[in-house]
Amino acid sequence: MSQPNAPQGPSDTRTEGRDFAPRSLAAQAMGRIDPGTRAVVMPLHVSTTFIRDPDNRYSSGYSYARPDNATVREAEAVLAMLEGAQAGALLFGSGMAAATAVFGALEPGDHVVAGTVMYWALKRWLREEAPRRGLTLTFVDTDDLDALRAAVQPGRTRLVWIETPGNPLWTVSDIAAAAEIAHAAGARLAVDSTAASPVHTRPLELGADLVMHSATKILNGHSDVVAGVLAGARADAFWERIQGIRAGSGGILGPFEAYLLMRSLRTLHLRAAAQAAGAMRLAERLRGHPHVTRVLYPGLPDDPGHAVARRQMRDGFGFMLSIRVAGGEAGAVATAARVRLWKRATSLGGVESLIEHRASVEGPGSPCPPDLLRLSTGIEDTDDLLADLDQALRAGHAAP
Ligand SMILES: *Cc1c(COP(=O)(O)O)cnc(C)c1O
Repeated sequence: MSQPNAPQGPSDTRTEGRDFAPRSLAAQAMGRIDPGTRAVVMPLHVSTTFIRDPDNRYSSGYSYARPDNATVREAEAVLAMLEGAQAGALLFGSGMAAATAVFGALEPGDHVVAGTVMYWALKRWLREEAPRRGLTLTFVDTDDLDALRAAVQPGRTRLVWIETPGNPLWTVSDIAAAAEIAHAAGARLAVDSTAASPVHTRPLELGADLVMHSATKILNGHSDVVAGVLAGARADAFWERIQGIRAGSGGILGPFEAYLLMRSLRTLHLRAAAQAAGAMRLAERLRGHPHVTRVLYPGLPDDPGHAVARRQMRDGFGFMLSIRVAGGEAGAVATAARVRLWKRATSLGGVESLIEHRASVEGPGSPCPPDLLRLSTGIEDTDDLLADLDQALRAGHAAP
């Protein structure tokens, strides 16, 4: 991994003294033109190997496709730009591969603080695998800053991991405050920003050291790629170690997936805006519903996370919300069974709306209440989504 991973500069990033907005750069995949053909869409690079120069060097910067690939680099450059990441971005074969590379870069004996409300499969991985690697763990409600302050151990804690909004309750953690607490203890702050996307939140600007996304979700947005990404604030030794882990363990994303992801990133801002507007409208309408006891969405003014969300999110509050349904677990499952337009499936962030009884997935030990339905808002007509959910809630509650 001798090549720098920093984005190779786009053709232009400013005009008339004005920096182009991230949405302008993303729409044009940073204005890159294929030098061979002058095409506005870059080619898909599938070669696994590259010719050596007569003097035994690799002047193109590429030697073999496990450490690096030109199509992957294109998508990484857009992601690094979207996150404002000085160190650049690294794409992995899944969100889990990206997240576990961060924990893999820690040393035995290091202490980690992570959120009680976080992506369930990652929490399970931490519980099962982190102790085997000599890491010690403390789970804490990271939206409670006093609790977070009490959980970090100065000199021993090396990583604070927060997810905001946190799946599946959409609790909001204060990134800037968490960064201060982590740094005062000598730890790094990593943020799983999957539910916020770089459209709504840029954690590195708020003091985080690393950002992680499951790019499977809204970044790709079409439910046809599994991918993960890390973006780094600084190209320090820890970042280099993460790069080394990706190259050594073979966790790089495949070029075709990177190409599809790149195509999706061009419309990210449109999708994120439409999906967040839909989620807001759903949240407002569902909270008056006779069979809904609570709506969890940080965009609602009386949501416990709203004040912090307003500070660290812009142009909306994301595409994810959850509802708690009257009639407990049975009411929730019966409702999920009766949707027609919503699709009853796991995952999130796609252009099609998904509904899931989350406790069935998470099982014992999860903070997810049994009457909760997780809703991922797509780009369908919001009135259609509301009408379908309304008929499912009514039918689910009429059922014996
Ligand atoms: C899906 C998800 C992950 C894991 O990503 P994969 O791409 O499925 O490996 C991690 N964090 C959050 C918040 C997620 O939604």
